[in-house]
Amino acid sequence: MTKFAYFNRAIRPIEEAQISIMNLTFNYGIGCFGGLRGYWDPKQEEINVFRIRDHYRRFLNSAKMLMATFDYTVDSLTDITLELLSREDWQENCYIRPLAYKANSMGGVQLHDQEDVVAIFARPVGKEIQRNGGLKVGTSSWRRVDDTAIPARGKLIGSYVNSAFIKSEAKLNGFDEAIVLSQDGHVSEGSIANFFMVRDGVLITPPIYANALEGITRRTVSELAQTELGLKVVERDIDRTELYIADEAFFCGTGMQMAPILSVDHRLIGNGQIGAITQEISDLYFQVVTGQVSQYQHWLTPVPQLERV
Ligand code: PMP
Repeated sequence: MTKFAYFNRAIRPIEEAQISIMNLTFNYGIGCFGGLRGYWDPKQEEINVFRIRDHYRRFLNSAKMLMATFDYTVDSLTDITLELLSREDWQENCYIRPLAYKANSMGGVQLHDQEDVVAIFARPVGKEIQRNGGLKVGTSSWRRVDDTAIPARGKLIGSYVNSAFIKSEAKLNGFDEAIVLSQDGHVSEGSIANFFMVRDGVLITPPIYANALEGITRRTVSELAQTELGLKVVERDIDRTELYIADEAFFCGTGMQMAPILSVDHRLIGNGQIGAITQEISDLYFQVVTGQVSQYQHWLTPVPQLERV
């Protein structure tokens, strides 16, 4: 259960973290957010937050695009988050949600001359990691928001209307998830996750300019695949029909974690089972985030324990 939030520049009971229906961000979606995970380490009996500084770097970049004027830094946001999680004192995995928004009441639809604030809350998500068993995916009839309209490289609140259109269409049409194309018809990403495919042993992912989010998990996968598994990783445009002849494919993201794709538009990917490279990357990813690979400890930030009396 969530007991606290960082709100109005202090950690307070979650019940006090309320905003008005007149709030500008609530009315127009002008804000941004982050999504981080903390993984419970049963041996050390502590939670480790994964790549917290990289997440806050992207969060501040998203806020910068929205002309936020606050004085938060990667360091201060990291400290606040660790204190919040310390106070929550969970002994399980958790998901952390920082938000940057305009605290003004509804007024001008503009980025500048607003009151920019930050709020953070987290949620416990259980001791066990739920691994995704494999997805049936369809190509969305919607297109990804374009950088010339709402930039997809940052996590801007309003752009998740686009994600919701994509997700609902896919689910209601009997798929688990969707692949969405950019305006020029190349693969962009999933509704809330980045995309990779494997062809002839090479890992291929769309470039960020295909209107994909600058994903932290995407970067993690690229680095692990190259450094630990010796795989070649290529960023290039992907056609829709190239998906149909991929050997393997998967989504990755903080929320989805690693999600193998078993079919696209009713065509099996490979033999319709989780691919060998996907499995290997996925296993390594979960080992890394749960602190079992010593050379990637620097991606983990332990939550300080509360003094127990
Ligand atoms: N794309 C979108 C649209 C997302 O919402 C997310 C989740 N943050 C991702 C990709 C994956 O990004 P990350 O690995 O940084 O969580």
